Amino acid sequence: MTIDTSAAVDDRAVLWLDIDNTLYSASAKISQAMGARIHAYFVTLGLEHDEASKLHHQYYTQYGLALRGLVRHHGVDPLDFDRKCDGSLPLEDMIDFDPKLRKLLDDVDKSKARIWALTNAFKPHAMRVLKILKIDDLVEDIVYCDYRIQNFVCKPEPEYYTMAMEKAKITDPSKCYFVDDNRSNVDAAISLGWGHCVHFCETGLESVEGGKLSQIDNERLPGAQHVMTDISSLEELRKIWPEVFVQPNNPS
Ligand SMILES: [Mg+2]
Repeated sequence: MTIDTSAAVDDRAVLWLDIDNTLYSASAKISQAMGARIHAYFVTLGLEHDEASKLHHQYYTQYGLALRGLVRHHGVDPLDFDRKCDGSLPLEDMIDFDPKLRKLLDDVDKSKARIWALTNAFKPHAMRVLKILKIDDLVEDIVYCDYRIQNFVCKPEPEYYTMAMEKAKITDPSKCYFVDDNRSNVDAAISLGWGHCVHFCETGLESVEGGKLSQIDNERLPGAQHVMTDISSLEELRKIWPEVFVQPNNPS
């Protein structure tokens, strides 16, 4: 990926959206289907099922992505992995256009915020999901894990967020709005000073504003504030971040 740092900086905020299990419901069970394929991939490397499960979990926990461990320790070709795992998912049968999601993103005030996707998937999977959801035209660009690069970075590594900001040409982390269903990814963004971070839990959104750390981190940082909002939809972002949404005309 080439980063052009010479171009002008855009003053608008950036709304960073994780894709998988954030823009569609975890009930689509895509991560389970993905997990089954990854497990099968481990097994094709000659591992017993128990060992495959153990290493899958270990690499995911240690590196943020099972593939990172597969590349590092098993010499796996990431593009082969992507074809056989993400690339073989019948996504069209698993997720569908969600008019409410499209309306939500459509209602982001584009004079105030740009919408970018920030995913740990490779580009083909990311683009496929955005197209099926019919929001690809509303997303300015995608920051994805570039499997073609040796030792590619991914969330929650700080370098990934830094690279994302450079790519979007945003310099002020306080103008970063971020939603992700993975708590570690949210915590990493908070620790980098991203101003508006929300953990999407589906059964509720856990919100931490103003770069303040939450839960465990609250104990380390006296004075940090934590806001917990129980909702089950991204729609709640309209209330949490009203400053980046078009406000309805309210004649009274
Ligand atoms: Mg996710």
